[in-house]
Amino acid sequence: MPRKLAAGNWKMNGIGASLVEVEALLAAWPNAGCDILLCPPATLLSRMAERVSGSSIAVGGQDCHVAASGAHTGDISADMIAEAGGSHVILGHSERRADHGEDDALVAAKTAAAWGAGLIAVVCVGETLDEREAGRTIDVVAGQLAGSVPDGATAANTVIAYEPVWAIGTGKVPTLDEIGAVHDDIRARLSDRFGAEGDGIRILYGGSVKPSNAAEIFAVSNVDGALVGGASLKADDFGGIISALQ
Ligand code: PEP
Repeated sequence: MPRKLAAGNWKMNGIGASLVEVEALLAAWPNAGCDILLCPPATLLSRMAERVSGSSIAVGGQDCHVAASGAHTGDISADMIAEAGGSHVILGHSERRADHGEDDALVAAKTAAAWGAGLIAVVCVGETLDEREAGRTIDVVAGQLAGSVPDGATAANTVIAYEPVWAIGTGKVPTLDEIGAVHDDIRARLSDRFGAEGDGIRILYGGSVKPSNAAEIFAVSNVDGALVGGASLKADDFGGIISALQ
């Protein structure tokens, strides 16, 4: 069974003062029985990486460009994330797909760029409410998975995050059976395509995970941890989720 992962996505939240939350996490979880990842805005990446240096907390970016450098105003590259101390990068988050028109092919290219820089790609997939209500969840997620993850994925270079778009930041969560059905299907497809490596690729659930619902979600088959937005901003809340993974 893969080691569990609690990943926090700070999105466009956090300034220097917010690093007190990292200090609190470091104090509370010096030897957590799961992996912990924090993905702050790019402006905080190197400062957060310095704070967690030598600890078991990893940091990562929230997106990267496909190119290593060049005339791409406002973007950052995978190499820059790595140089700033990041070890992971979230790719294909539904907010990137919606706000920036990112499609599966672009996410796959970014994933390859992330691997090239030595980063672990956290590739996000998930259906909209319309797609779920139309009974298309499995097809949509399978299509995103096939299109967004290039050949060469391994347990060491890739994490999948299943995040129903309608559950992100809404307080709504699929039933445990619904989560299990999607995670089992993702696992089967990863194993089919990547063999033993696919058996070990971690599959996170994301969408309104809180301390109060984390334990029951983590008990679902093939849920290897969580990608957490809002509840990752405060050490107490994120700590409650980490606690459910011990
Ligand atoms: C996310 O944005 O990846 C997410 C899961 O957000 P939240 O936990 O706030 O629903």
